[in-house]
Amino acid sequence: MQCKCGITIPTKAKFCPECGTSAPVETKIEIQPIKQVSHILTVNEASVFLKISRSKLYELVSQDAIPWFPVGSHKRFLTQELLDWAKNRGRL
Ligand SMILES: [Zn+2]
Repeated sequence: MQCKCGITIPTKAKFCPECGTSAPVETKIEIQPIKQVSHILTVNEASVFLKISRSKLYELVSQDAIPWFPVGSHKRFLTQELLDWAKNRGRL
């Protein structure tokens, strides 16, 4: 990313090392929610995604209160299904 002072700002830098100007907004955006929509999540990732503890997630799974699917002996979650579940659950 080129700063207006002419120096190239490192990709992860928040400020130009030369003049101190804030780096252009584009370089700060690292979250790409659209690309994550169809991702498959592990139990750990799903609990982080839902911002709940793993034990709470296991509780929901054991009650079949949340969409999940088995891969062998492992439990997996689809990001899109969790989002749909979260949306619909608010209306019940
Ligand atoms: Zn600069």
